[in-house]
Amino acid sequence: MPEKKIQYVGMCPVCGEALNYGNSEFEDDQLYYEVSCSCGFEGKEWYSLTFGEITSDGEELPLIWEVTCPCNTIVEVEDGCIGECPNCGTQLDDKGNIV
Ligand SMILES: [Zn+2]
Ligand SMILES: [Zn+2]
Repeated sequence: MPEKKIQYVGMCPVCGEALNYGNSEFEDDQLYYEVSCSCGFEGKEWYSLTFGEITSDGEELPLIWEVTCPCNTIVEVEDGCIGECPNCGTQLDDKGNIV
């Protein structure tokens, strides 16, 4: 059976030298960099993407807590505020206490 050679990020799979990076492009839910090497190798270095989080470059985002209502519904409550369960109407604070 043929063995797949272990590959390393940024290392040419042919000669082991450092790859040069070109443009990056999205394709479906993956991203690739065009890579090339002084030995003549050209190819693509692929990354799979998973969602991390959304951050703001401007104003700080409001802090939202997820609390569980006694009826087992998850309720989102803004920090320091009171939220209302959309299922049973119970009012909860940001720690999940009934108010
Ligand atoms: Zn190479
Ligand atoms: Zn509820």
